[in-house]
Amino acid sequence: MIRLRSLSTLTAVLLAAGSNLEAQTTAYVGGSVWDGTGASIIRNATMVVEDGRITAVSPSAEIPAGTEIVFLEGKVLIPGLINTHGHVSGRWAAEDVVDEQDRIRGDLELFAKYGVTTVNSLGDGLAVIEVRKSSSPLDPRARLLSAGAVIAGDTPEAARNQALANADAGVDWLKLRVDDNLGSSRKMPWDAVQAVMNIGNERGLRVATHLFYLEDAKRLIDMGTGMIAHSVRDTDVDQEFIDSLLESGICYVPTLTREVSTYIYGTRPGFFDDEFFTEYANEDEIERLSEPAYMERTLASASGAAYRVALVQAMENMVILQDAGAPVTFGTDAGPAGRFPGYFEHMELALMVGGGLTPTQALLAATSVAASCLGLDDIGTLEPG
Ligand SMILES: [Zn+2]
Repeated sequence: MIRLRSLSTLTAVLLAAGSNLEAQTTAYVGGSVWDGTGASIIRNATMVVEDGRITAVSPSAEIPAGTEIVFLEGKVLIPGLINTHGHVSGRWAAEDVVDEQDRIRGDLELFAKYGVTTVNSLGDGLAVIEVRKSSSPLDPRARLLSAGAVIAGDTPEAARNQALANADAGVDWLKLRVDDNLGSSRKMPWDAVQAVMNIGNERGLRVATHLFYLEDAKRLIDMGTGMIAHSVRDTDVDQEFIDSLLESGICYVPTLTREVSTYIYGTRPGFFDDEFFTEYANEDEIERLSEPAYMERTLASASGAAYRVALVQAMENMVILQDAGAPVTFGTDAGPAGRFPGYFEHMELALMVGGGLTPTQALLAATSVAASCLGLDDIGTLEPG
């Protein structure tokens, strides 16, 4: 919890190039800038932003006449956090927001309140795609990318049709689910997986994959997946996997907090008392998670216990891959029930560091590495241009 708080302080002031800024010139003066490139912190920096674009970052940057000045002594600026695996269903918007698209925008506003300025929605309804199409980088909420609905067809034809429907609707990614849920359900057949990969190739869409097992991860890389969207959680990753991951250049997204959400509500979690959580937390959801019957079920849940073990495996693999030079990339799977958008991103950073990454590695994973994973060249760092 100490780590979580210190990261929260660090990210108290977050800015994304091109986001949340009106058409005008603003200078952010006197703070320190961690620019997301891997360079050292710039102390007593001046960062000038014109019409949503950074034009200067340095201790000696000139401030044009008529510039609005924001003093940031004692604060650290970092690039906005980029969640490469999130969900925006509209679950978290205020009760009086009725319109489905407005509810989705409400989720994106909540992410932004916690400094999460980009969310890649890996498996939500078609309305998300409509919101994505009508978005502008200057909107006061997190930037949105979307994979449309998760594809999990039982036959090649069904999977192909789902993939085509998503592609026709204008998605940025396709999202597959190859998992047997700890042996409790049927895994998507490989010929159906191949059908989706084929549509991805035809339409120029990368395929992000939900998975659990190492052998599936290897096969999916061979088949051309564009993102490992969860940790390998059954065993240590081996050299064969490391080599194929490095060769493919695709990103590996641990989503550690997904595991946490499966067991943490068995007892009242300590973060329910964290002001950084309670400030924006949805009270109905806290109430639901705090019901004695729900807590008892969670405490007794076999899958929760198994995912708790899987979390340890996930952390070990994250460190093995980071040390091997693989692009370990920030993503949380936050947004569904029990996974609070925004706060869970900070919990994820704390878990990445708790699992063995350095704070710098975790923050790079959430900024420039994540931007490159999503193919977004103009975000993820605080640099002129
Ligand atoms: Zn997900």
